[in-house]
Amino acid sequence: MNRIPVFFDPRLVSDVPVESPSAGKPRDVVREWLARYPIELHGYAPATIVDLCRAHSPAFVQDILTMQVPNGMETDDVRFLDSLYWTTGSLLNAARHALSRGIAVSPTSGFHHAGYDYCWGFCTFNGLMIAAQSLLTKSNVQKIGILDFDQHRGDGTEDIVRRLNLDAQITHITGLANYPREKQAFLATLPQLLEALSACDLIIYQAGADQHENDPLGGFLSSAEMRYRDARVFDFAKIQGIPLVWNLAGGYQTAESDGTISIQPVLDLHNATMEECVRIFQDNQ
Ligand SMILES: [Zn+2]
Repeated sequence: MNRIPVFFDPRLVSDVPVESPSAGKPRDVVREWLARYPIELHGYAPATIVDLCRAHSPAFVQDILTMQVPNGMETDDVRFLDSLYWTTGSLLNAARHALSRGIAVSPTSGFHHAGYDYCWGFCTFNGLMIAAQSLLTKSNVQKIGILDFDQHRGDGTEDIVRRLNLDAQITHITGLANYPREKQAFLATLPQLLEALSACDLIIYQAGADQHENDPLGGFLSSAEMRYRDARVFDFAKIQGIPLVWNLAGGYQTAESDGTISIQPVLDLHNATMEECVRIFQDNQ
């Protein structure tokens, strides 16, 4: 039985104290996965400034790294900056690995609202586009699909595709523009959305947990429907022979027990995505 490769380094979690209970989500997710599923952790090199500048204006990158402009977390704690090389590096290296292995996972979030020279909404650098650009320029990959099933629209990704004239190389599927926000219509449209990725050499899939109907910032799918969503995506990639890398993206539900607030409902959804991934890909060669 093959193990699912997960590109995790503890440094992708920032030590900066923030209010959000989901700040440590990658660490929590990986802890649950290690205890439950056949995964293997891969170390990796962080992204470089050259990598960041493949998808962003060099002036913007410099302004972020010198704290001349607000970052996506709106923190002025310099320790936050280190985590950015590791989050973007996780997706970049996982994507590269998926090309040869067929499947890889990056336990990361916080990418799709980062545009060519701006950022907001907990996103600073766009790891999706940094990974895509790196592979388009440094490998024989011709076409990449970015399938963004976070509940929110990937406006930053759209901006970078437009500013860098990447329409021919990137098929970007994101909310509002590409798919309906109503349960039955979304599920009925799913096969067509996937069909649009048939010619891609790689799929980058944001398996957002905030598409869930109980999410305070979204969503419209039940837990079973989210599992169905993930299974259809993984099945499509497997059957078509298209390498796929997936990451966590959004998810904001919390639960309270004994006065402690946890993100267990979100972890449960990411666990379900991993279960479907294992079921469909664990026999991959
Ligand atoms: Zn979201």
